[in-house]
Amino acid sequence: MAKKGKKQKTASIRHDVERAGALCVAFVNTTATGRDNRRLEPLVQPATRIETYQGLVTWLQQAGKLGITECERLRRTATERPAEATTVLERALDLRATMTRIFSSLAKRQAPSRQDLDTLNNTLPMPQIAQKAGGFRLHWGEDSEALDRVLWLLAESAMELLTSEQHQRLRQCATEGCCRLFVYAHSQRMWCDDKTCGNRSRARRNDRRNRKMFEESRQKREAERWRRSEKTPEAPADAQDGGRLEA
Ligand SMILES: [Zn+2]
Repeated sequence: MAKKGKKQKTASIRHDVERAGALCVAFVNTTATGRDNRRLEPLVQPATRIETYQGLVTWLQQAGKLGITECERLRRTATERPAEATTVLERALDLRATMTRIFSSLAKRQAPSRQDLDTLNNTLPMPQIAQKAGGFRLHWGEDSEALDRVLWLLAESAMELLTSEQHQRLRQCATEGCCRLFVYAHSQRMWCDDKTCGNRSRARRNDRRNRKMFEESRQKREAERWRRSEKTPEAPADAQDGGRLEA
């Protein structure tokens, strides 16, 4: 059973990356809403899900970006060099905070601040240039035990997104209370996930429509009752008074 649960979680995180449209956007979404997005209540509290270096390695493995052997090696090295692992985690979380501000600005069609871009450049690791047959290639280091391998994956994804036209397709989920970002493939896409946020928005819209229809119907009945009561003939008050005076 436990094995099946882990398999489902892995499939779910891969699905999160696919829905986000880029690894770096899915990483930003781990702060935005967490898994509570699957519930129907409004999301106001951010849920930080990655709290340790090992947690980050596991997330990247479940996202399909790191192999099992590579993860085991990184976890072993992190246990041997805990201070370095903590520093890399802090860099990853700083990178996430900066990317969140930049991507959110872009989703609102605003230019990111110069300060955020400077922070991003200071946080991103830089690839190296190596020779290959007939030319050169970019690579992120050959040290398989380098703990900041996890940053290379996120940096590569952020560089790809920001230096391509894809960054113009960043959008925030239209559901009230959901801060998830995604890169849309079709401009009509409004929700981070059609089955969760899409259904929730549709249910809210139907609810609002039903309430509006109920209220309109109530007002109509009220007006009709008022109209009928005005038409009902009543004995004139002065006739009664006049009778008493005559007596
Ligand atoms: Zn959403």
